[in-house]
Amino acid sequence: MSDKIFYGVAASGGIEIGPAYLYHAQGLTASRRLLKPEEVKTELARYQEALAKTRAQIVELEGRAKEKLGEEHASIFGAHQILLDDPLFTEEVPQVISKEHMNAEFVLHEALEKFKTIMASLNDEYFRERGGDIRDVGNRVLRNLMGKGEKEQLKNLDREVILVANDLTPSDTVTLSTETIKAFCTDVGGKTSHVAIVARSLGLPAVVGMQNATVNIQDGDLLIVDGNKGLVLVNPQSHIIEQYRRLKDNYTAFQKSLEAFKTLPAVTPDGHRVTLAANIEIPQELDEMNRHGAEGIGLYRTEFLYMNREESPTEEEQFQAYKELAMKTGVNPAIIRTLDLGGDKFLSHLNESNEQNPFLGLRAIRLCLKRPDIFKVQLRAILRAAAHGPIKIMFPMISTLSEVMEAKAILQECADELKKEGQVFRAGVEVGVMIEIPSAAVIADILIQEVDFFSIGTNDLIQYSMAADRGNESVAYLYDPLNPAILRLIQMTVDAAHKAGKWVGMCGEMAGDPQFVPLLLGMGLDEFSASVSVIPEIKKIIRMMPYETAKKIAQAATKLKTSDEVFDVIRDNVPPELKTLLF
Ligand code: PEP
Ligand code: MG
Repeated sequence: MSDKIFYGVAASGGIEIGPAYLYHAQGLTASRRLLKPEEVKTELARYQEALAKTRAQIVELEGRAKEKLGEEHASIFGAHQILLDDPLFTEEVPQVISKEHMNAEFVLHEALEKFKTIMASLNDEYFRERGGDIRDVGNRVLRNLMGKGEKEQLKNLDREVILVANDLTPSDTVTLSTETIKAFCTDVGGKTSHVAIVARSLGLPAVVGMQNATVNIQDGDLLIVDGNKGLVLVNPQSHIIEQYRRLKDNYTAFQKSLEAFKTLPAVTPDGHRVTLAANIEIPQELDEMNRHGAEGIGLYRTEFLYMNREESPTEEEQFQAYKELAMKTGVNPAIIRTLDLGGDKFLSHLNESNEQNPFLGLRAIRLCLKRPDIFKVQLRAILRAAAHGPIKIMFPMISTLSEVMEAKAILQECADELKKEGQVFRAGVEVGVMIEIPSAAVIADILIQEVDFFSIGTNDLIQYSMAADRGNESVAYLYDPLNPAILRLIQMTVDAAHKAGKWVGMCGEMAGDPQFVPLLLGMGLDEFSASVSVIPEIKKIIRMMPYETAKKIAQAATKLKTSDEVFDVIRDNVPPELKTLLF
């Protein structure tokens, strides 16, 4: 037994142990047959029949998907029905059959292969995914022409397996049964790919984007899939299997116990109430957010709207996205962070220059202030959407007071314009800033005079305070949230906000780390904003942690010299049942 470990994208949490089942989507090949002139008409009719049959199957799949996964995930099959009207199917194939007197299977197969080559050459995730959808539809038409049945493979498995595939198409994922398929690993896919989204909806652990899963894993290999860490162990040694069995049992029991907390408020045993909100990076998370009991959104990253495209999104497009957000959060607030491009964020048409130090360059608010044409489109969309729900605005990467003033002036300009145009919008939307640059924390008492709230972005605050690139492993030891320098900056920010009678949240990863919750609670944080999946756990901790004890921990911690000492103070002072849970 060998002991191999492979990494990918942690697409859906949980641990599963079981035999690998390699799924090869049927490789459809079609042989060429020359038609006699009198056969052409019948061949065209046969092709039209296959199209009609495909449409009927997709409609049926849509119904099944609605039942199994809900309206949102079924919409892909609506899109597939539209794709059947693509000229590739309705014009190109019949034309070639008529002109070249070739059998329908061969013509369609050739057209799909040609299409596949073009799509693969495009360096754009959106088009590659749409290309996958056309192939999925096309293969279905091909199977109907060839008289081959549905993908019985996935429906009729007689044992529990871990599915290993190059990719899973929407029709694969609807056909698969969660009775037998316990987890999956794929070569392709990212966090926003269909397969990842479906894995999360089905609650199956999944690691995607492994690149060579189908090469490195053989049918029947024993796998451990750790969807929390994004790793897959192949034929591990027995003591590792034992270790993961325990981890799996603990994880399952723990997740189950958390369900009880979803609908409860985030309040300490001695009655101190805080807000527990969600960080949203992709719109699909909005549905999960409500299921996990978040009270609104503490950070809505808007960058995804600008990704993989040549042009910035229009005001109308953004308005629709933000309005949907307002509808989904209902009475709870949604904090929309304005564009934060630059640094480690993807490059796009908006990143103008090749900067030597992009993290210290034209990033976030700096870029927006330099490009008011782009900034104003977003601000106008937010103000209009704010008429439909309790939306707030947050500016990222603020380092000076003048940046706040300038951003607010542009916001006001947008409001004036909207008013003049007679548009529906909300004036007086609450405005906050992220505290993620040390200079902003140091002048927090000045900045708070101009805004309604703060949200501490520890991911950047630590990076800039310690001068340690947040993505560089060699300096990861400096990436230490408990360092006294960081704690002082956090405390200064909290105190400045409270002194001015305003509230302060934290949307950096520190707020979603269970071990730090008691300390942050005691430091006076009013809002914790974290990834959707950790929200129930954070809530459980808050509900177990007396505020009075948390305050004592914070008072002691902020006087200490090293992060190790701070860590010890937290561990030694939390109630015993929390100590068992956290340490
Ligand atoms: C942060 O810096 O802590 C933060 C939440 O913003 P981002 O991770 O998007 O830079
Ligand atoms: Mg940041």
